[in-house]
Amino acid sequence: MSETNPVAMLEQTARRKMHEALDAERNKDYETAIDKYKKAIEALEEIIRNYPDHPMSKIYRKTIYELNLRLKYLENKASQPIGETISDEIKVEIKGDINENLPDFVLKEKPSVTFDDIAGLDEAKRAIREAIIYPIKRPDLFPLGWPRGILLYGPPGTGKTMLAAAVANEINGEFIYLDAANIMSKWLGEGEKNVKKVFDYARNKSKNGIPVIVFIDELDAFLGIHTNEVGGEVRVRNQFLKEMDGLQDKSTTIHVYVIGATNKPWALDEPFIRRFQKRIYVPLPNKEARSKLLSILTSKVKLDDNIDFEKLAEMLEGYSGSDIRDIVQDAYMRVVREYFESENKEESVRPVTIDDFMEAIKQRRPSVNKEMLKLYENWTEKFKAI
Ligand code: ATP
Repeated sequence: MSETNPVAMLEQTARRKMHEALDAERNKDYETAIDKYKKAIEALEEIIRNYPDHPMSKIYRKTIYELNLRLKYLENKASQPIGETISDEIKVEIKGDINENLPDFVLKEKPSVTFDDIAGLDEAKRAIREAIIYPIKRPDLFPLGWPRGILLYGPPGTGKTMLAAAVANEINGEFIYLDAANIMSKWLGEGEKNVKKVFDYARNKSKNGIPVIVFIDELDAFLGIHTNEVGGEVRVRNQFLKEMDGLQDKSTTIHVYVIGATNKPWALDEPFIRRFQKRIYVPLPNKEARSKLLSILTSKVKLDDNIDFEKLAEMLEGYSGSDIRDIVQDAYMRVVREYFESENKEESVRPVTIDDFMEAIKQRRPSVNKEMLKLYENWTEKFKAI
């Protein structure tokens, strides 16, 4: 990225402020740390405000969550009134005593996504309904118990996170988002304790009648490092496995579900695979799903009459859901660019045409290739369990 790229510059500012905040924290200068964290958040929020569809926006949002949690923690520490700096877009619930005893860097989101927002994936939706939603509604119909661990695997950007969030929404439960890679790097030394805290919290909620979905993104990051233990990774991993066993303990009253997501299921070892009794493949969207996705994604955009979703869906074979989202954004960007570059401004932008889509498709190759798909199919043959 060049120096003049505004996103790169804002990102650099955010990074610099975060470093300065950390330095200040180390020196126990909490006032300065708070100020620097706020500046970092402002820079990231500016990116999201000006470039809401930037491919990194999910990461920026996540970072803002984390920084806000840190900020609350420091504000408590510095005994200052708690500021309301959380952006509306980021629907995080922070209340009570620092997220009610959840460790720092755990995100507790209030999902607004529903199954209807997710295009296709009918088989995955059905499997999830049977595994989680039916047992919650009628535990008496499941005398043999039901799975507490569900693995969603498949190519990146196919809706795994959306599925897990939609479940939490459907069961009126809480959604705890953990990024395994993040846990491993940020909880160094504290990992085991923090994993326990998360599950204690979830069990407590469930005892009070609120089901909890613990979603673990990049589950495979828990694996593959235990040959070279630096900060207690083996213990984190073992604690996690132990907690999962605890959930399975025949108790019909505990409604805590662990949904793990991975793009690399083959990196998981046997103890992990065994604890995720349901293993659900989340594939690339089929033609019908691509067409539905196009209609969802363009619902707020003015389209030319010549747009034919069926035809576009055909051209988008091999593209993931997030690729298609990016293409819709690229196509729309052409319209906006033209608007800003033109001399005589109309009241509004022109409709998006089929040519805009064609150009956008030409500029973006699918992010998943055939060899990768073959790997998923092979793993599915061996380990699928729905
Ligand atoms: P990763 O493995 O990279 O974390 P993921 O499989 O969890 O990806 P999501 O984060 O759920 O994917 O999806 C990324 C984005 O792509 C979503 O925010 C959404 O805009 C779009 N998307 C992907 N698949 C679908 C789908 N089936 N229906 C609707 N939107 C989708």
